[in-house]
Amino acid sequence: MKLSNYLACPECDLLLSKNTPVVGEKAHCPRCGYLLHNPRANSIMRTFSLSLTGLFLLFPANLLPIMGIKVLGNSHDGTLISGVLTLFDEGMWGVASLVFLSSVLFPFLNIVLALLISGHLLFNRANKHLSLWLRTLHHIEEWAMLEVYLLGIIVACVKLASMAELKFGLGLSAFVLLLLVTVTLASNFDSPLFWQKIEQLNAKKN
Ligand SMILES: [Zn+2]
Repeated sequence: MKLSNYLACPECDLLLSKNTPVVGEKAHCPRCGYLLHNPRANSIMRTFSLSLTGLFLLFPANLLPIMGIKVLGNSHDGTLISGVLTLFDEGMWGVASLVFLSSVLFPFLNIVLALLISGHLLFNRANKHLSLWLRTLHHIEEWAMLEVYLLGIIVACVKLASMAELKFGLGLSAFVLLLLVTVTLASNFDSPLFWQKIEQLNAKKN
């Protein structure tokens, strides 16, 4: 029995023989029904182009005004970064760090790692850090929560709408696009395929 031909179900630890389903077929654990593998067509190419798009969207989403507020003749434009800085200034360290991590740092790392990994796999470049990058990506994915911030923007708009004049900025459009790109990125990401490719590249190198 060669151990690399088997995998354990992440949910119930049932030992299963590894066989790669074709695109359009899903592999479920026969005991608990956990979705083991959902192969996606052109996953590496799609991951590469989506993360590249995401990288370009990160800059306007973070640096352009998300919205402008006009109260009593004073107008103020707010960007994502200036929002985080204001929270820090107000002494709300906990919220500021949370917003910074989940809306700025983790989405950034998420996209950069996805780009690095898919780029290496697409052009068949072996790299000893590939497994580490992919493991890190899996951890980060859970923490990148752009949608939470978007929900915050919506709540703020509803609350402010009656007392101030609101204007939506280009940053918001970039932010919504970035959110769509990251969701599509996650749904096209065929993790078992990525692991398999990394194993192949490493085996070829050794
Ligand atoms: Zn199971």
